[in-house]
Amino acid sequence: MRIDIITIFPKMFSAVLDESIVKRAQAKGKVKINVYDLRDYTADKHRKVDDRPFGGGSGMVICAEPVFRAVKSIMRTVRRKPHVILLCPQGKKLNQAIAKKLAKNNHLVLICGHYEGIDERVRQKLVDEEISIGDYVLTGGELPAMVLVDALTRLVPGVLGDKNSLNFESFEGNLLEYPQYTRPANFRNFLVPQVLLSGDHKKIEAWRKQQALKRTKQKRPDLLKV
Ligand code: SAM
Repeated sequence: MRIDIITIFPKMFSAVLDESIVKRAQAKGKVKINVYDLRDYTADKHRKVDDRPFGGGSGMVICAEPVFRAVKSIMRTVRRKPHVILLCPQGKKLNQAIAKKLAKNNHLVLICGHYEGIDERVRQKLVDEEISIGDYVLTGGELPAMVLVDALTRLVPGVLGDKNSLNFESFEGNLLEYPQYTRPANFRNFLVPQVLLSGDHKKIEAWRKQQALKRTKQKRPDLLKV
């Protein structure tokens, strides 16, 4: 899978791209992630990417021209049109089902907005899908893009060592994950449930299913209504 990110803050991405599973996924060749500085696609010597909104109002708006140039320059290097995503608080709210669908794409282009957002013509003419990471407003699309990159990378086949770790995670089958424990079995007199030490795999599986259901009812009953 290839993910191209267009941003005015390319340096922000090293925190996520150069660590942990995302770093290893790139090293293994499972994902190829490129970060493009939007200012490289400006035509003036000040590398200006924004301007005042027509009609007045506060803040600045990212201009359409450099975004068009950046996306078109990426498209010139590939045969198949990539799926272009704008990170935007008005977009579809990201969840595991959407992440799984997006992870099926071979090539994504992520556009990060900033300031008051991006000229509407980018949305109309370039963007295939808008994705939000929740009903709150951040200063830029960089953190949402990182969230998306992380959520998608771990879904790419071969990225996570133990593929079972995907099957039993929260949101699979509309359930939250069961409680997890590790050594020691007795931590300051708080004991691990006996069934997990029993070695009886059938009983453990039944306990986990029942716990997952209980947790989901308590914490996220909405998931059970789907
Ligand atoms: N004026 C815009 C509005 O009211 O819809 C908000 C602009 S926001 C300050 C700047 C940029 O941050 C957006 O263009 C978008 O790329 C990104 N952003 C902010 N919150 C986001 C969210 N919840 N999900 C995805 N992107 C977000």
